[in-house]
Amino acid sequence: MANEANTACIDGFHLVIEALRLNGLDTIFGVAGIPITDLARMAQAEGLRYIGFRHEQSAGHAAAIAGYLTRKPGVCLTVSAPGFLNGMVALANATTNGFPMIQISGSSDRAIVDLQQGDYEELDQMNAAKPYAKAAYRINRPQDIGIGVARAIRAALSGRPGGVYLDLPAAVLSATLDAAAGARSLVRVLDAAPRQIPAPEAVERALEVLARAQHPLIILGKGAAYAQADAEIRALIERTAIPFLPMSMAKGLLPDDHPQSAAAARSFALAQADVVMLIGARLNWLLEHGRSPQFSPAAQFIQLDIMPTEIDSNRPIAAPVVGDIASSIGALLARLKPGQIRPSSAWLEELAQRKQHNLERMRQRLNANPVPMDFYSALGAIKGVLADKPEVYVVNEGANTLDIARNVIDMRAPRKRLDCGTWGVMGIGMGFAIGAAVISGQPVVAIEGDSAFGFSGMEIETICRYQLPIAVVVFNNGGIYRGDDINRGGGADPAPTVLMRQAQYEKLIEAFGGAGYHAADPATLANALAGALAARRPALINCLIDPKAGTESGHIGSLNPQSSLAAKA
Ligand code: ADP
Ligand code: MG
Repeated sequence: MANEANTACIDGFHLVIEALRLNGLDTIFGVAGIPITDLARMAQAEGLRYIGFRHEQSAGHAAAIAGYLTRKPGVCLTVSAPGFLNGMVALANATTNGFPMIQISGSSDRAIVDLQQGDYEELDQMNAAKPYAKAAYRINRPQDIGIGVARAIRAALSGRPGGVYLDLPAAVLSATLDAAAGARSLVRVLDAAPRQIPAPEAVERALEVLARAQHPLIILGKGAAYAQADAEIRALIERTAIPFLPMSMAKGLLPDDHPQSAAAARSFALAQADVVMLIGARLNWLLEHGRSPQFSPAAQFIQLDIMPTEIDSNRPIAAPVVGDIASSIGALLARLKPGQIRPSSAWLEELAQRKQHNLERMRQRLNANPVPMDFYSALGAIKGVLADKPEVYVVNEGANTLDIARNVIDMRAPRKRLDCGTWGVMGIGMGFAIGAAVISGQPVVAIEGDSAFGFSGMEIETICRYQLPIAVVVFNNGGIYRGDDINRGGGADPAPTVLMRQAQYEKLIEAFGGAGYHAADPATLANALAGALAARRPALINCLIDPKAGTESGHIGSLNPQSSLAAKA
């Protein structure tokens, strides 16, 4: 806690650093500038890890995914007004997805901001953040830094995790306190995410509903993945023999090739299930709000969630189990009697047959080998390379690139698939990849649509600057959805969804000393990816996909209001 000018004093900068360190927050993702440049500099001097980005949105996404993976809030540091707003998409995305993070932002002079007298980067940031954050606080005095950081940590981690905004006016950072008073003001947060034990009668009710089921189905969501109760979840699924479906970020919680996975018979399983048990998954748009025809109108639901108000949010829940996943699964296992739950054998056989049929169709698509490549042939090559590398993180965004990769790329370990999540946000790619690589040291493959990549593409300089083991695969079909649309007015300007098909994305990374590859066929793609992963160095593969491959809006075309024009694309 040294202060060079006066060893008996501590300033706001160092109080923030000590408050983070005391709570085990040892990594900061940010973009330096007024008034937090010295905060970043001093944090590094004091032994915290500082990762500097090119845009705050990517820094925020990195912090959010670090929070998801570690169950400690990821910290994002931004400059005032514009930098703060750039980070806000990531903070809002973290809140929507239930990722714990804290965006700490410097801000301008309160007196001037509040009278709207026109300060440099003037904005009432705390109030601007409120609608998008789980909580928003401002620290106005150096003696409150300890308690303010503690409040932010507890708000980010407790209950359903989320994004917290913490405002630090420039004057607080440079203000000083007596060193002893400063040390006393720091707060170590105890038990920030306390266990929440479900009510015994709720657990009993859930077991009774399950016991009556002929066609039970378990849906695992990213809340289940976040809970890190992997062994207990697996035990519940295997002891009850109930088929399961993973939501996209829950893939790998049990391996995708587990015999009880119903993923390859997804629509059949959803439509035919008579009892659906949701474990850390919301009945939002990603599950068609639990409605028919995707679900049977007669189906009964059991829901395990930490958030009481999630229950009955879209459809009545017959057996709510409110608690943390680990405690709830533990309680279910403790009360489960041998033979109490028996899915009908006809149900299991029918699912197995559908799976077999669909897996065979998939195998044919993956092996078709069209020229130019389509999404399936390219993803088939990536699937082959990743087959024996369960430790590799897979970041994935795009439209068709997202939807098809989710089905093709098998996951074999928990929390390795990181994607657009609840919002369907574009722009998480490089931020998530950097966050995962920094906190784990493990290699990352980012499978990116060419449009999606553009949102965070400049961060390949960050990847190269820190020499991170990240291989970016750009699925270049020359457009958003597809690359072959035309200008309906007949003019020379490209159509709204068209991007440059001839773009040599691999040259981008070469500019920063990384390895660039160009792949027009599956064998070249597989070799390039295998080489990049073995080298554990920054790499970018420009992967040429047929501009005619891909459908408008990927698998969510039903959400896209279309005129008669668009259908003719
Ligand atoms: P997915 O998109 O994978 O279906 P969602 O983000 O929709 O997952 O749902 C995750 C759910 O998990 C949220 O409702 C959240 O409240 C819940 N959740 C998050 N962490 C926990 C936990 N530790 N215990 C119980 N529920 C949790
Ligand atoms: Mg594209």
